[in-house]
Amino acid sequence: MRDLLKMPAVRIAEAVKKGEVEPTEVVDAFAERIKEVEPKVKAFVTTTLERAYEDAKNLGGEGKLAGVPVAVKDNILTYGVRTTCSSKMLENFVAPYDATAWERLKREGALLVGKTNLDEFAMGSSTEYSYFGPTKNPWDLERVPGGSSGGSAAAVAALMSPVALGSDTGGSIRQPAAFCGVVGLKPTYGRVSRYGLVAFASSLDQIGPITRYTEDAALLLEVMSGKDPKDSTSADRPVPPFSEEVKKPLGKVKVGVPREIFELGLGEDVKKLFERWLEELKAQGVEVETVELPHLKYAIPVYYVVATSEASSNLARYDGVRYGYRTPRYRDLREMYKRTRAEGFGPEVKRRIMLGTFALSTGYYDAYYLKAKKVQRLIYEDFLKVFQRVDAVLTPTTPTPAFRFGEKLENPVDMYLSDIFTVSVNLATVPAVSVPIGLTENKLPVGGQIIGRPWDETTVLKLAYLWEQISNFPSRVPEL
Ligand code: GLN
Repeated sequence: MRDLLKMPAVRIAEAVKKGEVEPTEVVDAFAERIKEVEPKVKAFVTTTLERAYEDAKNLGGEGKLAGVPVAVKDNILTYGVRTTCSSKMLENFVAPYDATAWERLKREGALLVGKTNLDEFAMGSSTEYSYFGPTKNPWDLERVPGGSSGGSAAAVAALMSPVALGSDTGGSIRQPAAFCGVVGLKPTYGRVSRYGLVAFASSLDQIGPITRYTEDAALLLEVMSGKDPKDSTSADRPVPPFSEEVKKPLGKVKVGVPREIFELGLGEDVKKLFERWLEELKAQGVEVETVELPHLKYAIPVYYVVATSEASSNLARYDGVRYGYRTPRYRDLREMYKRTRAEGFGPEVKRRIMLGTFALSTGYYDAYYLKAKKVQRLIYEDFLKVFQRVDAVLTPTTPTPAFRFGEKLENPVDMYLSDIFTVSVNLATVPAVSVPIGLTENKLPVGGQIIGRPWDETTVLKLAYLWEQISNFPSRVPEL
């Protein structure tokens, strides 16, 4: 059943529904693949194949995702399975309920194959900050898969699951998708419920799909989207039938390329592939023009003030009382708190809690947090202005392809800079997808980012689909 591994999820579900393949056969194929390549890639914190078999046996053969294996990032709750956030703090935490996004997939017949590795609490760009050790990039095992959803992107790229869920606060779906040569979509803020997603920066976090085919990203989005009474920030807006919309003709489309991206340390190989991408889209009738995002250069500092401020507040709940780890050695309550947090959190999480606590403290609040929120508004307005003229904005997803392990650990700011093109999208709340636009000379994938108007995932997905038709990018898979 080699074929199943490369099949779009949409086709797998069709085959299951027609009775051409048993759901257990699907699980067999992916279980075997996981056995074969997971020891090299290390994409999973936990695999749940036995449970997938059980669920496969009980499946009625119904649903938009009938028999489709899904890998879920380990900061998204899945009932009865441990959800660790790749942190010692939650090493033995078993989820008491399902996240809405996952619950909706399950209801359509999806099968959980495992929980994927991430940077601790989704803070990072390489998965090197996982308590369980890093995931490897399937294209080059000496390089990072990106992060923080590195496990999900690597699992999909290595054909261990046809689709996966990630979470994206500042690029954590799109950047690893780019590094691993797959598709990653961050929806408009509020499109997908965050209920059951462990909070990092609540005003920026979104769950989204990581897939090899655009159609699959569209289908997953369609199933997950929509108002959820359990998340007051989920939007009560109609959900278009994305999986059908995506295949309709694109029509006349104008895209903008921000002038500023060429001034922000773009690597040579990325620049070359990005320019070729633009040429090929032009040849398909896509109109391309230069636009301006004058506040883009402030995106990194603004993001790291807003995200760390919210993180410092969100992570206050890990106190040794309510959830997870508690230090075994303490004399009084204060010492219990202190030791629990000192022992339970890794270095990057601590750095962020300290940065955020500082930015929110009396006397500094106006100078840092409030200032950052004001500049965030300017970034948002930059995008709205540009979207009066164009239907989408294109940038590379990252300035360089996947870097080597350890390369950016010494200098956290260097790590932060790799998010330059993705964080502005979260700050502006708009949707964006990363698609593979080619391989560098040493066979590393490069991603192109398509950013859309608020709530216009349709145009973003249609452009991605058009590019998939002409480039046939899902046909390129890493040798493992
Ligand atoms: N790499 C970014 C960070 O470290 C984004 C993380 C994310 O999107 N979860 O904050």
